[in-house]
Amino acid sequence: MNKGAFVVVLGKQGAGKGTQCVRLSRFYAVPHIATGDMLRAAVRAETVLGLEAKKSMEKGELIPDEVVNKMVAERLDRDGAREKGFILDGYPRTVSQAVLLEEMLLPLSLNLVVDLEVPTGVVLRRLASRRVCIDCQAVYSTSQPPKINWTCDICGGEVIQRDDDTEDAIIRRLTLYDEQTAPLVDFYREKSLLSTINGVGTADVVLSRVIKAIESKLSRN
Ligand code: ADP
Repeated sequence: MNKGAFVVVLGKQGAGKGTQCVRLSRFYAVPHIATGDMLRAAVRAETVLGLEAKKSMEKGELIPDEVVNKMVAERLDRDGAREKGFILDGYPRTVSQAVLLEEMLLPLSLNLVVDLEVPTGVVLRRLASRRVCIDCQAVYSTSQPPKINWTCDICGGEVIQRDDDTEDAIIRRLTLYDEQTAPLVDFYREKSLLSTINGVGTADVVLSRVIKAIESKLSRN
């Protein structure tokens, strides 16, 4: 019986966060909470939130903290996230979001923050060739496409290039990552919550590194 885990995964765009988070959420049987996926679903459904978020997302800009904070707070109330835990992907993205997350979780707290480290040259190559399923968000690439004609192997959805995987938006997102999200690494290091993991390698190899780090932290709690 798995004990669940309260985990945040950090890493620049293309570091493999999404891929690892899907696997971690299966391994620990906890929800995968990905703010980017939630926002893209809102854009597709043309909800008020989606219409508001669309332009910023296409340009690679961040969505205002209060909008994302509210969305995450509501999501934490579902699927037993507060009881069993969660794998948070894409949130927090700023120090102010991290401070709010701490408040939202009280009296609980995070077990570990994983920082997936991958050199910028590698992520640029990964992002340019990345393709994703519009329905289940499974990640493919031009060198590892789905088996049949850009149709998702898992759910049959259409596999496309994300609107923000254009060169301009990628550069903007990586700049914002350095400015706004990289300071989170120090924030969590000071709280002794950070584990830096080498994100270069096959998805399985990286996953086993991440699980080892989480297990080691859980066994010390
Ligand atoms: P990536 O990490 O590759 O940029 P995501 O799927 O995590 O992709 O996010 C896509 C976009 O959604 C971001 O560029 C941003 O516009 C918005 N977004 C996601 N999470 C947040 C957040 N925590 N705060 C603000 N904006 C966010």
